[in-house]
Amino acid sequence: MGTDWALDWVRRSAAVVAEHKAELSGLDRAIGDGDHGENLDRGFRAVMAKLDGTTPDSPGATLKLVATTLISTVGGASGPLLGTAYLRAAQSAGDADELDAAAVVAVLTAARDGIVARGKAESGDKTMVDAWTPAVDAAARALADGGAVVSVLVAAAEAAEAGAEATVPMVARKGRASYLGERSAGHLDPGAQSSAYQLRAAAAAAQG
Ligand code: ADP
Ligand code: MG
Repeated sequence: MGTDWALDWVRRSAAVVAEHKAELSGLDRAIGDGDHGENLDRGFRAVMAKLDGTTPDSPGATLKLVATTLISTVGGASGPLLGTAYLRAAQSAGDADELDAAAVVAVLTAARDGIVARGKAESGDKTMVDAWTPAVDAAARALADGGAVVSVLVAAAEAAEAGAEATVPMVARKGRASYLGERSAGHLDPGAQSSAYQLRAAAAAAQG
């Protein structure tokens, strides 16, 4: 997976976030303050604007541009969390021109570890970690089974989608939704859903 893949991942993430902006903010309205779709859309628009003026020369440089832009434009809880995710992903990718399946698993793992380091959420706390951790686990299993990079990314996307769905009955223990206590149950976590969209974008970019 080279720079073209990383750029296509970013483009597809920007497109899917724009398409689902109202849905993501609606999810956040139910258990938060209703800004998640706007927050992320503002961030990915800024990323696309930067990519108009410059073309990164590696997957790592692409992920770094996403990281710095999201950190400075998204705000809220999710900006620093996703910014850290993409920053750690960029560090994992380094300056390699191409990422093989093992390197892609390492990138996803680094992203998840960054979110956990920053937000201290555990699995089951009803956050974006509940999409990222199953995704990383599924990607690692696909790699261990000898899967090529496309199957690793598809496994990650499918697990992230299932992980996001699984947040519905959970009671939030981190972030704004945790203020609702038991009343947070019965709703999909917006950050888990947007993370699943970004991971599906990564897989779709690899499938071409
Ligand atoms: P805010 O809550 O500041 O309005 P957003 O609405 O943009 O920020 O993002 C909310 C999402 O952030 C939640 O749906 C959840 O997935 C994620 N989130 C919040 N706190 C944490 C945390 N400590 N660790 C991981 N994810 C978190
Ligand atoms: Mg919010």
